[in-house]
Amino acid sequence: MADVRIAAACLKLSKQMMGLAIDLGVMLNGLSAIAWTALADGRVDFVNRKWSEYTGLDITASSGTQWRNAISRDDLPEALEQFASILVSGQADEISARLRRHDGQYRWHTLQLSPMRDANGEIVRWCVLCIDIHDLRRAQDALKRRELDLQLIVESIPVPVTVTSPTGEVESLNQLTLDYFGKSFEELKAWRGNEVVHPEDLEAAVTGLEASLANGATYNVESRHRRADGIYRWTNVRGFPLRDRDGEILRWILLSIDIEDRKRAEITLAESERHLNETISTLPALIWTARPDGTGEFFNRYYLDYVGRTLEQVRDFAWTSTVHPDDLPGLIAAWTDIMASRMPGAAEARMQRYDGQYRWFLFRTSPLRDQHGNVVKWYGVNVDIDDRKRAEEELRRSEAFLAEGQALARMGNFSWHVDTNEIAWSEQLYHIFGIEPGTTMTLERIIAHCHPEDLCLITQFFEQGQRGDSDIECQHRLVMPDQSIKHLHLIAHRANDRPGRYEYIGTMLDISQRRSSEEALDKARSELLHVSRVMSLGALTASIAHEVNQPLAGIVTNASTCLRLLAAEPPNIEAAQETARRTIRDGHRAADVIARLRALFSKRGAAIEAVDLGHTAREVIALMQSDLDRARVTLRTEFADDVPLAGCDRVQVQQVIMNLLRNAADAMSNVNDRPRLMWVKTEAEPHGMVRLSVRDCGTGFDPENAERFFDAFYTTKDDGMGVGLAISRSIIESQGGRLWAELPANAPGAIFAFSIPVHSTSRVP
Ligand code: ADP
Repeated sequence: MADVRIAAACLKLSKQMMGLAIDLGVMLNGLSAIAWTALADGRVDFVNRKWSEYTGLDITASSGTQWRNAISRDDLPEALEQFASILVSGQADEISARLRRHDGQYRWHTLQLSPMRDANGEIVRWCVLCIDIHDLRRAQDALKRRELDLQLIVESIPVPVTVTSPTGEVESLNQLTLDYFGKSFEELKAWRGNEVVHPEDLEAAVTGLEASLANGATYNVESRHRRADGIYRWTNVRGFPLRDRDGEILRWILLSIDIEDRKRAEITLAESERHLNETISTLPALIWTARPDGTGEFFNRYYLDYVGRTLEQVRDFAWTSTVHPDDLPGLIAAWTDIMASRMPGAAEARMQRYDGQYRWFLFRTSPLRDQHGNVVKWYGVNVDIDDRKRAEEELRRSEAFLAEGQALARMGNFSWHVDTNEIAWSEQLYHIFGIEPGTTMTLERIIAHCHPEDLCLITQFFEQGQRGDSDIECQHRLVMPDQSIKHLHLIAHRANDRPGRYEYIGTMLDISQRRSSEEALDKARSELLHVSRVMSLGALTASIAHEVNQPLAGIVTNASTCLRLLAAEPPNIEAAQETARRTIRDGHRAADVIARLRALFSKRGAAIEAVDLGHTAREVIALMQSDLDRARVTLRTEFADDVPLAGCDRVQVQQVIMNLLRNAADAMSNVNDRPRLMWVKTEAEPHGMVRLSVRDCGTGFDPENAERFFDAFYTTKDDGMGVGLAISRSIIESQGGRLWAELPANAPGAIFAFSIPVHSTSRVP
């Protein structure tokens, strides 16, 4: 550079010294810069030593127009053109061109042309200084290329890009930026003041940028930018500095990435997370999460409120302090097992409420796993089961009571689904049947335990169930494995009314003890009755004998006296007549006695009233129910609604009905191959009569004997008196009715029936 300055000074000096005719060539040769001179028309007349050293061309090879050989062919046309125009202009100027070095290498030079003038101002010569600008030019080219590359890069980035100076002045923008904002370069340069950035975000954007410019740190700000359509959209602006080799910041490149959708998703996610958190917090359940090592991490608000503690007081393992000390070891053991299994699990323990009260909780937990199946978290919920627990306890207690009660009462329950024949059996029933508890119960198994003579009873019971009768009942005997007999009473009630899908709930009562004491009582009673019958018959006989004996003795005595008086010689007719008269008197006395006895039998005069026969029969049945049960009689009644009231003595008619029922039961006492069915029926008869009939399926009778049943003292029973039917008939007949026996058509058994007149007030006119 020093040479260039010296050469310039020389040029100046040479102008002044033209007149002094100092040899310019000497001076130029002393320069370390390349220089030559040309005449006013441009022909070279001198080259300095440096030229010759550089180009390898001496003055001979350079003079005139030969200097052109040292100029690169590529640059020559333009250089010559410029040279010519400088000559014409006569003004100092410069030309850039590559000069060929002696070794063939070209280097860029600036050829500075200065005119030398004479005193008249005429150009007499041109002085040319060639300054090597090759390195500078290369650097400039490289820079230009880089600029070009940068611009290309910026344009090819598919997001809006802004390039600023190191101080933040906008230098260039890619087309996408212009399109995105729909604004000009100038408008965008002034982004700080025209609401391109949302006013609420401007401050953050500006301060962020200033901070980055000041310290060179990456710029990363999220702000809303107004798009061409006027809508603000969230944008993430990321800026980073471009530095030179020395680390000096050359430029800032800022990329604007539209994150509206992400932001929206984030907002929605944040919103739903907030919502979820709020929900979890306020859910009326005790919710928690734990780390894989089992330490408590999160407890919802409801949990904390429930235990009345802060998060710090329950987090990690502090939650164990809320568990009842008696339940803690069990709970910890269960929790450890669950964690080891890495599967969902549950355990029960008491937890202390804020007020100190302990309640039972079910701790349920299940793991959250990552994609490798490792547990990353445990989620848990504690459910208050205190009421259920108490109810269970209560149920257990009452079940125990029930079982105890059933054992004491020798009673058990069962349920029976008719369609599936599923039978649920209480513990006590297994005991009663002598069957291993838990054995599946079936109809067949029940029937197998039944006494062979009672099979028809139990089958009938099940048949009624299959039909759907609302209440079913039967008594039968069980044969126990040791061949002992048990008496059972079954009662079941239909629990639903879905045809074909009936369900019965029932009880079975072991009435063996009652039955044997009843039988003993019965025996005692019938013995007593017999004794009393015999006794009353004896007393009756004695009284009849006593009353009748006297007149009979009188009659016998008088008759003998009469015979004797008539057999005397001569017969004492008068005295015989007298004794015959006494005989007649005694005969009358005997008849009187009989009449009095009859009057005694029917001491009470019949009290005729309006009687509902059905109702009266029901009363008698109720009185005799236990006798009928004992006799294993199944009773069917059929009391028609439209039967008029009968006019009779209610008590006496009750005695008649009782007698008929007892006879019917007696007639079936040997029936074991079919149910002991008995029907009691009332009905209206024509001609103002009402009828009651008792039908059985017992032995029946020989029609020829039928009328004898009504004779007094006719009986076919060992313990019979044979007066029941006789008295019954006299009662019915005394009330204007009749009593008779008949045989049912095509069926075993007998029918005993009576009909009596309708009461006058209810008689149909
Ligand atoms: P008792 O019952 O003491 O024998 P009753 O006068 O009541 O006296 O009965 C007389 C007889 O009539 C009975 O012994 C029995 O032979 C017969 N008898 C009564 N009722 C029936 C009946 N329902 N079926 C068959 N025979 C019967």
